[in-house]
Amino acid sequence: MTNIILFGPPGSGKGTQAKFLAEKFGLLHISTGDLFRYEIGNNTPLGLEAKSYIEKGALVPDSVTIGMLKNKLDANTDVKGVIFDGFPRTIAQAEALDQLLGASEAEVNGIISLEVAEEEIVQRLLLRGKDSGRADDQDETIIRNRISVYHKETAPVFNFYDTKGKGIKIDGMGDIEAIANRLETAVKAL
Ligand code: ADP
Repeated sequence: MTNIILFGPPGSGKGTQAKFLAEKFGLLHISTGDLFRYEIGNNTPLGLEAKSYIEKGALVPDSVTIGMLKNKLDANTDVKGVIFDGFPRTIAQAEALDQLLGASEAEVNGIISLEVAEEEIVQRLLLRGKDSGRADDQDETIIRNRISVYHKETAPVFNFYDTKGKGIKIDGMGDIEAIANRLETAVKAL
């Protein structure tokens, strides 16, 4: 199995690029944000719980997120590998992921971070909010809160894997295709 974490702050282009990489390399794309939005759309108990955090720009608690991720992996045991998009977002989630993959003798092969300037991110998210109607992308206070949570809780996840020699940084500025090409090269080198 080839398992890749696509990493970066909200608005760095993880979703767009994860879809491209999944298709290019025949991997399963798992986006925890998409999974939560699906649950919210179906008014499930999990969705209702997640919504209260997401609309504030906070992280959904680890126990909820890890449980949901485990279910998704359990339902897809025969895949070539996974592109993780938006997970892990805390050290506890990273440790849980290593355990889950380790149970089937797999591991995280690399973590690729999309590097994007902070003001660019805010502008991209506000634009996405206008187009998609996503409530968490329409309010600058919520956006700034998500970015601050990213720096405090999520950024250490890169170091967690980088100290194991698995970290890769990619320039996430510029046009989508150019970034996709950089990513493709990085994944081939894994
Ligand atoms: P973005 O990367 O633009 O913030 P996502 O669609 O990945 O968007 O996530 C939307 C929201 O869902 C996050 O702000 C957070 O509240 C919640 N979420 C997604 N993934 C996780 C996770 N791994 N742990 C906790 N909360 C998460």
